[in-house]
Amino acid sequence: MPKFSLLILPGDGIGPEVMTEVRRVIDWFIDKRNLGFDIIEDLVGGAAYDIYGTPLHDTTLAQAKAVDAVLLGAVGGPKYDDLDFDVKPERGLLRLRKELDLFANLRPAQCFDALSDFSSLKRDVVSGLDLLIVRELTSGVYFGEPRGIFTEGNERVGINTQRYTESEIERVAKAAFELAMQRNCRLCSMEKANVMESGVLWREVVTRVGADFPEVDLSHMYADAGAMQLTRQPKQFDVIVTDNLFGDLLSDLAAMLTGSLGMLPSASLGAPMDNGRPRALYEPVHGSAPDIAGQGLSNPMACILSFAMALRYSFKLDHEANRLEMAVQSVLADGLRTADLLGEDGTDSVSTAAMGDAILAQLNLSL
Ligand code: NAD
Repeated sequence: MPKFSLLILPGDGIGPEVMTEVRRVIDWFIDKRNLGFDIIEDLVGGAAYDIYGTPLHDTTLAQAKAVDAVLLGAVGGPKYDDLDFDVKPERGLLRLRKELDLFANLRPAQCFDALSDFSSLKRDVVSGLDLLIVRELTSGVYFGEPRGIFTEGNERVGINTQRYTESEIERVAKAAFELAMQRNCRLCSMEKANVMESGVLWREVVTRVGADFPEVDLSHMYADAGAMQLTRQPKQFDVIVTDNLFGDLLSDLAAMLTGSLGMLPSASLGAPMDNGRPRALYEPVHGSAPDIAGQGLSNPMACILSFAMALRYSFKLDHEANRLEMAVQSVLADGLRTADLLGEDGTDSVSTAAMGDAILAQLNLSL
């Protein structure tokens, strides 16, 4: 079995406690499935600031560039709210994403059967939902120039620029087609080609890239109609590819179809490295949850499912990723819930560590 290298950055707040459960899961795969992992652990965010005076030390960044994948917990917390912008914990994460040039953000929205009553939508609309949003992450209106607040005549004007080059669209489209090939071969591209030139170019380039993927059924939708369809009939989608701004909104919308923040993993992928694996950062969608940190109340599943994404997308171990996702699903089906997943049925909640124990027990049953 080849060795995979992994940089683990637990970060702040509940980051370290959810990552402890991930480490137990990784150890299980090493012991029971004979997988080889070289693991380095380091600091990021406020934890890094406390020790290094910066939220991402250059050595940590160099390690991130050298490994197969980075797994991050969460960053931030009230203790750091008054720091200068440049050394705020979030800057560490942003720098990591930028330096690794992670242009494709993958946000799955999967509705576990046992949690389908958690959605704000009707059970039959979301039950069995399994879609993946691919959001362009490094360009578009959040980065385009000119930007700023200027004075024109006797009033101020705020300007941001939506800008996409063909190559930026091409690389994220290619990533989305490849992901669709690994799933159900359906890709829906969303933009606003009716009112934005960048959307016209987006549609043209995605269509052109699609010629190399004849197996994938490509469709196009205006992003506003896409938002409507996501709430009306989300199960019609397999993979959605969209730009940075629309992706920001649509992925949050899709996430809430599934219920709790404590369940949502994510991956950010970049260009292939010399070994053919994409540069990759895996992290839960949730933040550092300072309100519950250190109390053993946090749900470790989003972080564990982020590791499942690493197994699938960095290490191409689909069957092991499925095994881990099935273990999570079984634990939920058995009725185990951390506090964030407590509905009105009065189920007792379990601790972070007890949830980890239950997932390990299910993994043992899978052998
Ligand atoms: P948050 O995601 O940390 O918490 C929102 C709510 O969800 C809280 O009530 C929290 O207790 C709950 N929650 C979140 N994750 C949970 C889990 N795994 N298990 C159980 N409950 C969970 O968002 P916030 O409160 O807006 O932000 C708190 C801090 O996290 C801020 O400093 C913010 O900047 C930072 N943040 C970091 C990231 C990141 O690291 N990627 C993302 C978002 C926010």
